[in-house]
Amino acid sequence: MKKEDCIFCKIANGEIPTNTVYEDDRFRAILDNGPATKGHTLILPKEHYADLYELPEDTAGAAIALAKKLAARMREKLHCDGVNLVQNNGAAAGQTVLHFHLHVIPRYEDDGQKILWDPTKPSDEELKAVCGELAGE
Ligand code: 5GP
Ligand code: ZN
Repeated sequence: MKKEDCIFCKIANGEIPTNTVYEDDRFRAILDNGPATKGHTLILPKEHYADLYELPEDTAGAAIALAKKLAARMREKLHCDGVNLVQNNGAAAGQTVLHFHLHVIPRYEDDGQKILWDPTKPSDEELKAVCGELAGE
């Protein structure tokens, strides 16, 4: 997809009005328009990066630092009981908008949302084999 057609580029750069909770020269943080919970926020870099693989390391670090700031604000102002950071890459992982975004989702006791996964039960051998594939350079 071309950057010119990217809805999050337009939102991040102010071409489409949205509910902005934070803005600086690199990021805009907006309310998700289909929120999991009250205060569900998306951190959007103003530059177009499709996903985590394209995101420069320093921008990744700055996005997490901003998530930390927003999480503190959510606890203070919305009185949430917890926060999930969610970041989807690829259709298999549930990414629907191909402009990197980091979800900051305030959680409330009994909010009824299920953001966690169903654990599987691999054997020790299977875990060791995966570890062998993944570890190292
Ligand atoms: P993904 O599934 O790609 O990680 O998340 C995309 C998120 O963007 C969804 O939670 C969806 O509700 C939100 N979203 C999609 N389009 C818009 C939009 O135009 N405005 C806002 N504020 N949120 C959007
Ligand atoms: Zn974009």
